[in-house]
Amino acid sequence: MGEGEFPMSEIRGYAVQSPTSLLAPFTFSRREPGERDVQIEITHCGVCHSDIHSARDEWGGSMFPMVPGHEIVGRVSKVGGKVTKLKVGDVAGVGCMVDSCRQCPNCKKGLEQHCQNHISFTYNGTEQDRKTPTFGGYSSQIVVDERFTLTVSPKLALDRVGPLLCAGITTYSPLRRWKIGEGHRVGVLGLGGLGHMAVKLAAAMGAEVTVLSGSRSKQADAKRLGAHEFALTSDAAATAKLAGRFDLIIDTVSAAHDLNAQLNFLKTEGTLVLVGASPKPLEVSAQALILNRRTLAGSLIGGVQETQEMLDFCASKNVLADVEVIPMKDINDAYERMIKGNVRYRFVIDLKTL
Ligand code: NAP
Ligand code: ZN
Ligand code: ZN
Repeated sequence: MGEGEFPMSEIRGYAVQSPTSLLAPFTFSRREPGERDVQIEITHCGVCHSDIHSARDEWGGSMFPMVPGHEIVGRVSKVGGKVTKLKVGDVAGVGCMVDSCRQCPNCKKGLEQHCQNHISFTYNGTEQDRKTPTFGGYSSQIVVDERFTLTVSPKLALDRVGPLLCAGITTYSPLRRWKIGEGHRVGVLGLGGLGHMAVKLAAAMGAEVTVLSGSRSKQADAKRLGAHEFALTSDAAATAKLAGRFDLIIDTVSAAHDLNAQLNFLKTEGTLVLVGASPKPLEVSAQALILNRRTLAGSLIGGVQETQEMLDFCASKNVLADVEVIPMKDINDAYERMIKGNVRYRFVIDLKTL
């Protein structure tokens, strides 16, 4: 479909209509920008495994039709009268959230992702009225309150910056929470979108990084991305050497898997932080936690301020995602490839192709 075939309020996108349908063209409307709103013409949107879990209703509670996408970057095309953060022409980003109550203790602490009233996720959610559905970044345009937009350094390549807004912040936040830096050993389990950002960020913070992967073919990439060591999780001789090694392991695996082997890779008082969101429960051995008083933790994206801090950190260290840019029509194939672990290391949709 060419430009100009839709009235201004009609947005083009790709949606799924049910857990078993493919993504297909879809038109919908968005609000005109209010006084604190920013309207962004989306240039690129990263493809996160959460898009697949949600589109296929693997976690339960999915809302259809659904326009996925929460690694959004683009150019500002309109701003409301009271907007101060961005102006027309600026590069802007939107991550996993488009609003929250802004008043509860968690929102006030900058932990909007844990809003105690109502978090408005970028898609598969509702606005603060709890009725209007939110639609994500597999679309031509988005309108977001400026408080949930991010400013993006013009130094950063537009097609490589989108993945920072979910994969980047989701791995940055636990690295900061556990104060990772020089002298720490970090393990990264699963080398996909989140995993490759975890490697780059932990290395940029000065940690010694080991990739723990099920794919031997990713060994050379692991080193190139900044890892110091690589261990194939199916190689018993290689993993035997990892006992008691890590201060922190970031587990990015998207499906059910064994936690207990990796818990044993932690030092005394080490932490295994789950960011991978397996739809199926995981089994934990009490012994693996009790011995060496280890911690099993979780982490969900990061707040708005922390996301901005991460973007600024990435701009200063020249950290960007390794991406394969795809046209919108290839999205269903991209999902299949991600499920097979065959992505190096993030698909990013070029919205010009919509
Ligand atoms: P991805 O690009 O598909 O990467 C996942 C990686 O995990 C794969 O590349 C593969 O790495 C490994 N893996 C996949 N299936 C596996 C299995 N059955 N057993 C062992 N390893 C397996 O996915 P992603 O976008 O990085 O997302 C990863 C997970 O994080 C998803 O569950 C997603 O929903 C979740 N997530 C959570 C948050 C949060 O805030 N907590 C935010 C974003 C995403 P190897 O080939 O190296 O083994
Ligand atoms: Zn995501
Ligand atoms: Zn709140």
